[in-house]
Amino acid sequence: MSENETVFVVGHKNPDTDSVCAAIVYANLKRELTGKSFKPVIQGKINPETEFVLTRFNVPVPEIMEDAAGKSIILVDHSELKQAPENIKLARVVEVVDHHNIGDLTTGEPIYFLNEPVGCTCTLIAEKYFDSKVPLEIPMAGLMLASIVSDTILFKSPTCTQKDRDIALRLAKVVGVDIDSFGLELLRAKSDLGSKTVVELLNLDYKEYSMNGKNIAVSQIETVDTKELEAKKPELLSAVRKQKEQKGLFAVVLMITDVMKEESELLIECDNDGVIEKAFGARPQNNSLVVKGMLSRKKQVIPPLESALNEL
Ligand code: MG
Ligand code: MG
Ligand code: MG
Repeated sequence: MSENETVFVVGHKNPDTDSVCAAIVYANLKRELTGKSFKPVIQGKINPETEFVLTRFNVPVPEIMEDAAGKSIILVDHSELKQAPENIKLARVVEVVDHHNIGDLTTGEPIYFLNEPVGCTCTLIAEKYFDSKVPLEIPMAGLMLASIVSDTILFKSPTCTQKDRDIALRLAKVVGVDIDSFGLELLRAKSDLGSKTVVELLNLDYKEYSMNGKNIAVSQIETVDTKELEAKKPELLSAVRKQKEQKGLFAVVLMITDVMKEESELLIECDNDGVIEKAFGARPQNNSLVVKGMLSRKKQVIPPLESALNEL
């Protein structure tokens, strides 16, 4: 890497608040620490919640970067090739900062790889700010606080750890907000789903995975008010079916997560319902399965699906 080459910091496809904000704040921290050029970029349009956050703290939306060929890259909030920019294999990945299962990325050289099982990438980046002498400005603190609240669904998700809570409290002090009212404001922005088409809803927080040779997709819609989606369920299910057919996937699962009731309805199209039954303990009825207490794709959907697929 030449001395003044720009390093691009990028989160996953179908960016959520953590993947956009982690790229922004980590690029900022690296710039402050090294004096070199780090540029946050995103893969695709931001969602309404992220738009709310960036507007509130007056931070510009990063540019879109889809092709990584020939670039130096830091991946945040993912390490799964399917979620990374196109041609990531033709890029130099120089760092990874994440809080998911380790994906299928490999590198030719040793790199800095930080992964902790916490609720949010920004928790790890905030910890780095607090450990450094870099001054933490309100907008950066606000972006990280919003990401933690969003990823942990206001600390309710089973992915949330004490570290996420502690860091969020420190960030809230810097920003000067009350976490609960800030969190509700954010959840409301997230739940502004009424105007979206079913295809937009399916793609809002959509991720693909490769497990035991099978390609699957799991999408999640989080809402404080499932009523606004009730009438759209048949249409959503046909969008799920179409997605599975068009991409030749083994399964597509759409989680409709009721943040208030703390449960998820899964809309499912799968080549083998036995896999679903093995993973979640019940067979879908009319392609639907309600699972009480389910809030997290990463902790409550991906691991059981993966072990069910490995038993095939
Ligand atoms: Mg994310
Ligand atoms: Mg995240
Ligand atoms: Mg999420």
